[in-house]
Amino acid sequence: MDNLLDVLIIGGGPIGLSCGLAAQQKGLRYLIIEKGSLVDSLYHYPVNMTFFSTSEKLEIGAVPFVSNNNKPTRNEALEYYRRVAVSANLSINLYEEVTDIKKKKVNS
Ligand SMILES: Cc1cc2nc3c(=O)[nH]c(=O)nc-3n(C[C@H](O)[C@H](O)[C@H](O)COP(=O)(O)OP(=O)(O)OC[C@H]3O[C@@H](n4cnc5c(N)ncnc54)[C@H](O)[C@@H]3O)c2cc1C
Repeated sequence: MDNLLDVLIIGGGPIGLSCGLAAQQKGLRYLIIEKGSLVDSLYHYPVNMTFFSTSEKLEIGAVPFVSNNNKPTRNEALEYYRRVAVSANLSINLYEEVTDIKKKKVNS
């Protein structure tokens, strides 16, 4: 099987997911590798934390982020980014840490 990638995205945080959505939209072969859970940094925020950004500012891939208040909670953000990843069927390997990268030359 051809396992070549056009784009390797390290980290499944909001930016990594956003890059994945953009790569998918362009028809590129991409893979997101995340060393922890999906949006792992957010998962480790204090449980009752509220963002200082509004939900609109945290949206990715033009997927609406509707929260109970203007500024979403950690739990709402976790649910939102999971919904984005699942609905777009993003290609993500979780609990894999990137420790080294080597570029492979391909004869065209
Ligand atoms: C308490 C708190 C509140 C915040 N509130 C806001 C806010 O209101 N608005 C705002 O804009 N920002 C806020 N931030 C900052 C917020 O964390 C970032 O905006 C957001 O998470 C950045 O997304 P990111 O994808 O760039 O990075 P991250 O969310 O940090 O994602 C990086 C990911 O890469 C993974 N990773 C790292 N190294 C490797 C590796 N070698 N192999 C595989 N995976 C790896 C990590 O596990 C992580 O999941 C807040 C931060 C904290 C701590």
